[in-house]
Amino acid sequence: MSARILVVEDEPAIAESVAYALGRDGFSVTVAATASAASALADTAELVVLDLMLPDGSGFDLIAIWRKTKKIPIIVLSSRDGEADRVAALEAGADDYVTKPFSPREVVARVRAVLRRSQVEIPLQGAPVLALDAVTRRARANGSSLELTRVEFDVLACLLEQPGRVYSRGELIGRVWGDGFAITDRTIDSHVKALRKKVAEAGAEPGLIETVRGVGYRVTDAPSSPP
Ligand code: CA
Repeated sequence: MSARILVVEDEPAIAESVAYALGRDGFSVTVAATASAASALADTAELVVLDLMLPDGSGFDLIAIWRKTKKIPIIVLSSRDGEADRVAALEAGADDYVTKPFSPREVVARVRAVLRRSQVEIPLQGAPVLALDAVTRRARANGSSLELTRVEFDVLACLLEQPGRVYSRGELIGRVWGDGFAITDRTIDSHVKALRKKVAEAGAEPGLIETVRGVGYRVTDAPSSPP
């Protein structure tokens, strides 16, 4: 993966450590120390890591501008006591946040996760059959847009992270609801059933979301007959 990442951070030590970790992981990194430099550089980036407090402005203003003009994924760097900032950043349209102090490796992991979620397409017979965009939370099947619930979207996003890999029901529950929720296997099954129905209504093969008997679910690019 060699996506171009823009790191917007005015504290040189933090900017350098994040840029170094991303570069070591194969990303191509540009650093901007001010909001105005970030504005000028954002067009060349595929993801932005954004500090909220910049010498010439607020990261919130950049999020607002970018959300209007482009779909670029944004990961916010927030201070430890800035819970209100984190909530506001997510509401303004940031995709994720990392709390200072963080390890550069944590930032790299978030960058990878956000990129993975943001654009996934499963090609079948030359055309993308299942596609989703985590930034806009839109999903398509066979080119038609799918109206998914939050849970259906998150289940599909999880399955699409690694097409072909089987996800157990327990794993899907942990990923979609988080640990500590009393969600039964049957609940997952009914959400998958609803998801398949919507995929079928869009004219795609519902068997793309395959049941692996006794194990769980996977997305396949070679669907068997629908169950
Ligand atoms: Ca700062």
